[in-house]
Amino acid sequence: MTDTHYDEMVSSRGREIIDLEDKFGAHNYHPLPVVISRGEGVYFWDVDGKKYFDFLSAYSAVNQGHCHPRIVDSLVDQARRLTLTSRAFYNDSLGDFEKYITSYFGYDKVLAMNTGAEAVETALKLARKWGYKVKGIPQNEAKIVICDDNFHGRTITIISMSTDPTAFNDYGPYTPGFVKIPYNNIEALENALQDSNVAAFLVEPIQGEAGVFVPDDGFLKKAFDLCKSKNVLFIADEIQTGIARTGKLLAVDHEEVRPDIVILGKALSGGVFPVSAVLADDEIMLTIQPGEHGSTYGGNPIAARVAITALEVVRDEKLAERAEELGQIFRAELAKIESPLIELIRGKGLLNAAVIKPTKGKEAWDVCLKMRDFGLLAKPTHGHIIRFAPPLIITKNQILDSVEIIAKALKSFE
Ligand code: PLP
Repeated sequence: MTDTHYDEMVSSRGREIIDLEDKFGAHNYHPLPVVISRGEGVYFWDVDGKKYFDFLSAYSAVNQGHCHPRIVDSLVDQARRLTLTSRAFYNDSLGDFEKYITSYFGYDKVLAMNTGAEAVETALKLARKWGYKVKGIPQNEAKIVICDDNFHGRTITIISMSTDPTAFNDYGPYTPGFVKIPYNNIEALENALQDSNVAAFLVEPIQGEAGVFVPDDGFLKKAFDLCKSKNVLFIADEIQTGIARTGKLLAVDHEEVRPDIVILGKALSGGVFPVSAVLADDEIMLTIQPGEHGSTYGGNPIAARVAITALEVVRDEKLAERAEELGQIFRAELAKIESPLIELIRGKGLLNAAVIKPTKGKEAWDVCLKMRDFGLLAKPTHGHIIRFAPPLIITKNQILDSVEIIAKALKSFE
């Protein structure tokens, strides 16, 4: 990684824009040096008109492809009519969304928020409330079991659950009430659940930010069954894995698990608008009473209309089936690349990653820069892992072209 925020491949127009962000924006991200000005389907164009495959999909928010015409039409139509009422009044879109999404995923109720982190916070509050009101945990004693290397967002409470020093260092004091166990470890979960004050187990069905860690087959089902035997809520954070990304509508569907609480965000709007949601049945959702939780923008009419269309697109364009089929092809093709830099390929559906073994001084960041030069954008996570998560509307030929670019980038270091 260099100190400057761009390299010689960035044009003077690109540099101006990067400098602007650098000077006036907080330095809370370290973007790849490329400045995007347009997106359509699986493609981006930079400020100089150069075209790229997008292999990040805004961390799986753009499953439906950039600027999907149907989703954008819903946004524009609704924006011309009514944008925001707050929840002080009813609006004529939210109820339609609530009916649509609850029947789509098969839950009694939904609570709409905006960002993923807000939806996670909502789920944590619901779990605690249910713990006190329904399970009968003594006040202020509720615990929630979470996993090492999790990523659930950036609020103070959420980073209190984190085991990543970059996320939590210097932000204490932390929110208490969390019990950390290793991911993919049934024995550890079994031990943690001995405590009758545990209200819930919160888990990512695949740990995306940690580097696309796929748990062992059967882990989620066993974890769910354990939770049921101990009267503990099973909460799936499907913000990154949900909405067709891993080859099923929800990643838990691979093991036919029906979580007590499902957390959704990102692709719920196809990358068009911040929309997140928490799904649960009445016994859980109705523990929250009027005035006890909410958000000014949560469930606003634009979000409601955009999310309905985004979910329709997933179904109409069979995105889960596409992700399953193309994911198999993508991993098989990647496996054919012979490069000392590739240590491991893993993933499910179109949520995949390559673990990079630094070779001849080249690491994941250098590979991403080279792929950018050849027309494909991806970003390292944790320094040595590159996530590959294109929009799910990608075609087989586009997958094959992309793999060629990835191979060319890796070969260029030999
Ligand atoms: N949960 C998971 C599994 C995520 O991957 C993310 C974001 O990457 C979040 C929560 C937080 O979502 P947001 O960035 O919209 O707050």
